Amino acid sequence: MPEPKTILTNTAPDVNELRLDPLDVRDERFDPEDEYRPEPPAEPVPPAWVDGSLRIGIHTSISGSYLNALESARRLGCNALQIFSASPRMWSSGPSRIPDSDAAAFRARREELGLGPLVIHANYLINLAGMQPMLRTRSIQAFHDDLVRGIALGADFLVVHPGARGEAKIEVAVATIIESVKQAVRRIQLGKLRILIENTAGMGTAVGSRLEEVATIVRGLSSLGVGACLDTAHLFAAGYDISTEGGLEATISQIEQTIGLENVYVWHLNDSKIALGGKVDRHEHIGHGQIKAAAFARILQHPKLGASITTGMPGRPFLLETPIEEPGDDRRNVAKLWELSGEEGPAAEKGFSMLTAALKKKLTAHRKKTAKAVKDAAKKALQKKKKG
Ligand SMILES: [Zn+2]
Ligand SMILES: [Zn+2]
Repeated sequence: MPEPKTILTNTAPDVNELRLDPLDVRDERFDPEDEYRPEPPAEPVPPAWVDGSLRIGIHTSISGSYLNALESARRLGCNALQIFSASPRMWSSGPSRIPDSDAAAFRARREELGLGPLVIHANYLINLAGMQPMLRTRSIQAFHDDLVRGIALGADFLVVHPGARGEAKIEVAVATIIESVKQAVRRIQLGKLRILIENTAGMGTAVGSRLEEVATIVRGLSSLGVGACLDTAHLFAAGYDISTEGGLEATISQIEQTIGLENVYVWHLNDSKIALGGKVDRHEHIGHGQIKAAAFARILQHPKLGASITTGMPGRPFLLETPIEEPGDDRRNVAKLWELSGEEGPAAEKGFSMLTAALKKKLTAHRKKTAKAVKDAAKKALQKKKKG
């Protein structure tokens, strides 16, 4: 686009002149208004969900169709949601792109429902810290594919775990993660999609259980606009005691000194089955774990943590990744967050759950079958060993 030329207007136009119909003024004088000036690029209209209102959602299933996730979120009483962009426990085989018509239908329906933000959780197999070349290449490719699908779906955020460092030193792992993200983003126009690095519980050699580690990665990727997603269960299992009032305040100041709250775009709200500092990642229903309901009320109502226009970040959501063991667990956890927030959310559909009784039966049968197959295989291997 050409640069607008400098226009010299030393004298203010006569007010009377302005009242004339321009067509009546056949004047040969140079009128600065005649000068070609490119239209300023239209300010992007902020989406409806960035209005300072409280945003609450849950991870919803894309099983069957991407549209199902939107309908589930609506029926569960959410105004925000998180999804996987493909199966989270498989390396993609076949086409990784979403057909244009499916993506367009998804974007249109989401706008109709006013759901936002839309967060995508990256594939679980991705290890951006991986040192083994094959795993690293696959991870970068899978993350790249998640980005492409996220852009197609019109997602706002893509959350990824930093990865596991294995034998590598933390400094090496952090540098590897930064480089992996940069490689995955190559030749992609991110547009409004923002990558978020999630903190971890610190299981095994997982990177990102210390806020400093997440901060270093986020800083190393600031040119790409990368931010952070903080998970309450992970914070707690990593040793940040957000269950008490004082502990929450201390953790907030640690966030401010490391990542910066202005870089925390998404919260994952999960209670923890694991005790403080237990370093294991096990989510629990809100209020049923070690963090407890009162702490979630403090978090949801904290002026700095939510979507407040003045003290928080408009559009910043609280998203659940709580277990769904019984039909209705999902709906109950969403309702619990609204209750603890002290605000009224959109009405949920009575009795709706992503887990129906029939689906639960199917899943239980599948789990038993898988467990038996694993057991049989172990038995076979043992017999073979004995023989050999
Ligand atoms: Zn999480
Ligand atoms: Zn987790």
